[in-house]
Amino acid sequence: MGHRQILVGRRPAAIQGLDEMFDELYEQGRHPNDPGLGRELVEQARQRRNYIPRPAEDDFAQALLREYRKYVEQRMCGCHPQAVDYGTWRGRPREHIPWFPTLAEDLCDGCGACIEFCSFGVFESTEDGKVTVLEPFNCQVGCSSCANVCPPRAITFPPRSMLDAFRPGGR
Ligand code: SF4
Ligand code: SF4
Repeated sequence: MGHRQILVGRRPAAIQGLDEMFDELYEQGRHPNDPGLGRELVEQARQRRNYIPRPAEDDFAQALLREYRKYVEQRMCGCHPQAVDYGTWRGRPREHIPWFPTLAEDLCDGCGACIEFCSFGVFESTEDGKVTVLEPFNCQVGCSSCANVCPPRAITFPPRSMLDAFRPGGR
């Protein structure tokens, strides 16, 4: 089952089995405007072993509907979107390693230094003149260099010790 990364609000989330779920809905003729589809998408995502916290349900429903709308538009144009393969890290799917930058929105001034610095396309500018983490799983596990080029220190990473659990012999 493939993963696909989506933005929930401003935060990235990896959803397992999203393309399979969308394929099924599309084959059933479901339209993004169908009443209650957002909630249904949340439930279906849960059935595919995705963790969606109850307080964030509305945000996830909105994000999943937005993704399904894009998916339907692409299918109608004759394209068939595929899940992205982010590769592996020490034998584990990259999406299983929660290593990527987190931006403090209140500190970011949109200078763009991180976008210029990172050659892996992790960041993207937003319409409101700030920056968001668009492709968290493109971030190289263990790298935290962009935090040093951010003048207001808006970029943070998990503690490096967290990676020990994902090394051979870890949990
Ligand atoms: S370098 Fe820092 S302040 Fe500048 S856009 Fe990136 S996150 Fe925002
Ligand atoms: S840590 Fe490295 S790879 Fe990850 S976003 Fe920053 S510069 Fe890019």
